[in-house]
Amino acid sequence: MRFAFISDIHANLEALESVFEDIGKNKIDEVICLGDIVGYGANPNECIELVTKRCSITLLGNHDIAAVNLANTHNFNIHARIAIEWTSQTLSAANKSFLSALPTKKTLNSLTLVHATPYEPNMWYYITSLEEAAFNFQFFNTRVCMVGHTHIPMIISLEGEEICTHQEKQVSIKDKNMTRLLINTGSVGQPRDRDSRSSYIIFDTIEESFSIQRVSYDFAKTQSKMKKIKMPDFLINRLAEGR
Ligand code: ZN
Repeated sequence: MRFAFISDIHANLEALESVFEDIGKNKIDEVICLGDIVGYGANPNECIELVTKRCSITLLGNHDIAAVNLANTHNFNIHARIAIEWTSQTLSAANKSFLSALPTKKTLNSLTLVHATPYEPNMWYYITSLEEAAFNFQFFNTRVCMVGHTHIPMIISLEGEEICTHQEKQVSIKDKNMTRLLINTGSVGQPRDRDSRSSYIIFDTIEESFSIQRVSYDFAKTQSKMKKIKMPDFLINRLAEGR
């Protein structure tokens, strides 16, 4: 069986469509979304509708809950706040109620799924260092935990006491039975690792492999839509640079 894990779409329809096209070519059986479907981009309703149609499991992200209830924006910077206010006004009532019913955590076989961190997933903490990763390994019981939220794809493993990041795009866990993994999908709609291409993860249960996939999309089209709805320039410009 082959799973695709997507996260942090942020209402970027061009990126989401390109990723689904790539998923179609990669013989994926099931797609799972780790949250933040909305916020920043120009097509929140369209992205929710596409995710609803294509994903078997969808989790809640911090921008999703903020779009439903603006009281949840206290950690947002000014750009994110402007975007989420527009999003909140634009979302249909049906899509708002879809978002508000999403869970913050799920377990699927050997995988724990959260948007932010396995430790207190509804607090929206970040994993940006090996120390924070090591801390979070204590808070899930499965072999693997899948996260999003930082918009930076990453494969981190714990072998015995040792923690390491993997530079390679693909890891196999077939021979290393003791290895536990913390995997960040990266972002579909707003990558921040200086690569403008969308990022997602493929998990092949036969190969027992996880791989980071990158997909180009027409970000100029996304940017012109964002300009039309007067999103902050910072949010528009960052898409071209992947930051
Ligand atoms: Zn996000």
